Amino acid sequence: MTRYRAPLSDIEFVLHELCDLEGLSRLEHFSHAEPAVVADLLAEAGRFAAEVVAPTNQPGDQVGCVRHSDGSVTTPPGFKEAYRAYVDAGWGSVAFDPGYGGGGFPWLVGTALAELTSSANLAWSMAPGLSHGAIHLLERYGTEAQRDRYLSKLVSGEWTGTMNLTEPDAGSDVGALRTRAIPRDDGTWLITGTKIFISFGEHDLADNIVHLVLARTPDAPPGPKGISCFIVPKYLVDGDGNIGARNDVTCLSIEHKLGIKGSPTCVLSFGEGEGAVGELIGAEHRGLEAMFVMMNQARLAVGLQGLAVAERSYQQALGYALERRQGRAPGAPAGTHSLIVEHPDVRRTLLTMQAQIEAMRRLVYWNAAAIDRSLHDPAPEVREEWDEIAALLTPLTKAWCTDTGIEVTSLGIQVHGGVGYIEETGAAQHLRDARITSIYEGTNGIQAIDLVGRKLPMRGGAVMKDHLERIAALDVELADAGPELAGIRSELREAHAALVEATLWLASSAGSPTDVLAGATPYLRLFAMVTAGWLMARSALAAQARLDGIGDGSAGEAFLRSKVTTARFFCEQLLPPAVGLLPSITAGAAPLDAFDPETLAAG
Ligand SMILES: Cc1cc2nc3c(=O)[nH]c(=O)nc-3n(C[C@H](O)[C@H](O)[C@H](O)COP(=O)(O)OP(=O)(O)OC[C@H]3O[C@@H](n4cnc5c(N)ncnc54)[C@H](O)[C@@H]3O)c2cc1C
Repeated sequence: MTRYRAPLSDIEFVLHELCDLEGLSRLEHFSHAEPAVVADLLAEAGRFAAEVVAPTNQPGDQVGCVRHSDGSVTTPPGFKEAYRAYVDAGWGSVAFDPGYGGGGFPWLVGTALAELTSSANLAWSMAPGLSHGAIHLLERYGTEAQRDRYLSKLVSGEWTGTMNLTEPDAGSDVGALRTRAIPRDDGTWLITGTKIFISFGEHDLADNIVHLVLARTPDAPPGPKGISCFIVPKYLVDGDGNIGARNDVTCLSIEHKLGIKGSPTCVLSFGEGEGAVGELIGAEHRGLEAMFVMMNQARLAVGLQGLAVAERSYQQALGYALERRQGRAPGAPAGTHSLIVEHPDVRRTLLTMQAQIEAMRRLVYWNAAAIDRSLHDPAPEVREEWDEIAALLTPLTKAWCTDTGIEVTSLGIQVHGGVGYIEETGAAQHLRDARITSIYEGTNGIQAIDLVGRKLPMRGGAVMKDHLERIAALDVELADAGPELAGIRSELREAHAALVEATLWLASSAGSPTDVLAGATPYLRLFAMVTAGWLMARSALAAQARLDGIGDGSAGEAFLRSKVTTARFFCEQLLPPAVGLLPSITAGAAPLDAFDPETLAAG
């Protein structure tokens, strides 16, 4: 199997040319995040991901996790050692508050680091990934005492975090959850209930697990407005942050599942005995709002998973295509057997994978940089603008990058032919691992509803209008760029026009709320493809500008030319079919209403 290699050249290109890392490092908060320091950091992280984490990926899939009769869970061979090395090196703390032991780097840099570990081992990387969400929630909603007690251990990685939303009758409909929280005289709460599907709900990687749990307090109103959020540690923590007695949280079972087998997906029982002791975080009945901080960060992280697993799948497919010989490619001498990479159809598949990966990376990283600017730019109006952009992009990043990650990992199997379908090869694991990403953290259907229901109406539609204008404004630069980018320009214009038409249709009285919901998923895809196309076009412009003056046949020149090639392929060949989604978006609900599942089910 091809060894994982961190794609540092493209990552650095994106950081500098699209996300303006230099500009971010000029903000007071990130003044130490100089590009040269970030480059060294990523080079070292790339080595760590390739040498320490990546070798645990296939064994993790083959062996999986084991739950023992006492409720403890053992992770696959090598996971514990890799996690210990991760904590010792301080990788998890890079993008967090120096006040709690963090490195104070932008979330953009944390995103790049997370891409590397997620490509190396998607299942393993969920442990630190969930902790990052818990840290964000505690930073924003924890009291000073709570932050002091939990944050430094979570930032260092000595403890991990979980998010506990799902229950048997409360999946997408979180508001239906039934876990109870009863107040105690000392200000703490007793939590009772069962949560299902809790990732890393129990494991052997860390000394303590900080569960963030949604529950209902007595007399809470029904639905989402009655939900509160609680910190429920596996081991109780005293005022000085020391671990004490075991809390009443039990792992009843772990799931047997399609992929990410190294990530224990737990059924957790809170309060098998007296009740699990928890403390309220944030205001009572405002728990969903607090959890949304964790969920938005987690949605970006799941979009990143789509990119990361696609990258790993691509590297493996490319390695195979450069070794496997079959048939004779056009122009090859008679009697020879060509490498499959020489066949035009295989080249098309590989270039499709590469172009989609680059487009995903640009969308995810730009979203992460928007979050950094929304939090740390000195000007309130600039912070506000980036906050709106991040809110608009998050459902796109989550849903499109995970759908695309699944498509790319499927293509990765295709490049291998029959051996891709055989487990020993390892190509199938990437598709199995990728498959969950469109389901958890809000299914992609729910992301589409969020986009049309909550994000498009932001500021009376003006946030979307600004975004459409931002995309349209690139046309002038593309017009000046000469004939090489003319195809990008014309396809982006056409796709942009389709997106404008679709958006106006959704916003107009032509679409009833049901009509809008019926078109939400194809709309999200069109929107994401146009935004990705715009980012790819910017990438081509940046590469072309840097190419001016280089004609030395160097590796740097070849790299920049490859950016133009992939951007052209994305915009000229992958973007046009997205325009064909317009009729699905504007068809309304009538064709779906005509579908009668009961009659069909009756035979
Ligand atoms: C491996 C794994 C790990 C997980 N990790 C965690 C975790 O760490 N913490 C946690 O809390 N949860 C976790 N989950 C749960 C996950 O977030 C839920 O499975 C997901 O939110 C969907 O809920 P559900 O499974 O109940 O599906 P349902 O909500 O029953 O949805 C079924 C289908 O109906 C659609 N649907 C539902 N409601 C609507 C609607 N209003 N409009 C349109 N379509 C709708 C959905 O899109 C989906 O296609 C995990 C799940 C898995 C499998």
